[in-house]
Amino acid sequence: MDRFKKPRMRMVETQIKARGVNDARVLRAMNAVPRHLFVDEGLIEQAYSDSPLPIGEHQTISQPYIVALMSESLELKGRERVLEIGTGSGYQTAILACLADRVFSIERIASLATNARRILDKLNFYNVAIRVGDGSYGWREEAPFDAIITTAAAPEIPHYLVEQLAVGGRMVVPVGGRDVQTLYKLTRSVENPEEIITEDLGGCRFVSLIGESGWKK
Ligand code: SAM
Repeated sequence: MDRFKKPRMRMVETQIKARGVNDARVLRAMNAVPRHLFVDEGLIEQAYSDSPLPIGEHQTISQPYIVALMSESLELKGRERVLEIGTGSGYQTAILACLADRVFSIERIASLATNARRILDKLNFYNVAIRVGDGSYGWREEAPFDAIITTAAAPEIPHYLVEQLAVGGRMVVPVGGRDVQTLYKLTRSVENPEEIITEDLGGCRFVSLIGESGWKK
């Protein structure tokens, strides 16, 4: 018996549904993925709290609500190929792996990528590929992607990633300063594939994207 099942259900009801995330597939995934396996042993009792948590290397596992909001924004139906920048703990990766056909995830810190790979393997997420490197450049050999998610904040919209977005594809990315940002959703128009439609999803706080389209450390 998973003793975290109840806290996880409570998290979905009070933090996610209550704030307006309604996509049934997203709610199912958030109810299914054992978030406590993606945090350090010492933080396991806080795994379902309404906040980000440290995962080492000065990085964080994102707040559950933000994971759900970003996932819902990608409008995944199950057949998509998704690119994620910033694997971190691998928790968001696992949620995406429940919602899409394949997930390609890039993390710049090798130890985090290795740890995420280990947990995802343990949970049998075989539809995830992880690469270590600067995600600013995307994953050219696998492009285009139906959905792209960046879980680290960039000073401006990362243009290589936009180039790798399929026609009709959706991308979510936090953009702004190092402390606070705005979460944007970009959609490549089907009628005019040159056109990118931009929506503001509200304020957010993410760790910094470090690299070509981000900060230099
Ligand atoms: N979604 C993750 C989770 O659920 O654990 C949280 C990701 S954390 C907020 C952001 C991650 O982006 C960090 O692990 C950081 O090392 C990574 N990152 C920062 N810049 C990057 C870059 N240029 N390419 C790839 N990963 C990057």
